[in-house]
Amino acid sequence: MNQSTSSIQVLIEENQSLKMTISILVACYVILEDEYALVKKENEKIIQEFEEYRVRHPQHVGVKHGKAYDLKLEKEDRSEGTDIDTRSNPPKKIGAQPGHKKQVRVKQEIFQREVDVDVHECPHCGSYDLSDIQEERYRFIDDIPLQSPITTKYSIKRRYCPHCKKIVKGL
Ligand SMILES: [Zn+2]
Repeated sequence: MNQSTSSIQVLIEENQSLKMTISILVACYVILEDEYALVKKENEKIIQEFEEYRVRHPQHVGVKHGKAYDLKLEKEDRSEGTDIDTRSNPPKKIGAQPGHKKQVRVKQEIFQREVDVDVHECPHCGSYDLSDIQEERYRFIDDIPLQSPITTKYSIKRRYCPHCKKIVKGL
């Protein structure tokens, strides 16, 4: 009898405690619902702003050294003038566009990666009958990872095609 009364008392207390927990959870839910609505609204605004940004900045703009520039895809072999000719010294036409300040970097000895670009097939007639290497030029291209730049040295071999009577090179 006495034990049963105390059991009921325990259940009553537990019930009150659970009711309290429920009201706290409901209050939390209401707060989270408000916050969710706010975040959702902000997200929609950001998406809309980004779409507007994308329209104003189409994909033909690239970024190098933190600056935007127009990608000139139609220009064929634009790096031709910037190859470092092993014969001519000093090299002519280093990088600068007319009206721009010349920026010749002196880091040509420092590179982390080296790629041999050879040519064994004439790109004009498909012949494999190419001469020994007639000339070698170097091109240094900076690829920028997250922090430090990686300079790759490309050793571009040139060979003579007797069929075309032309000097050909690896691409
Ligand atoms: Zn050829």
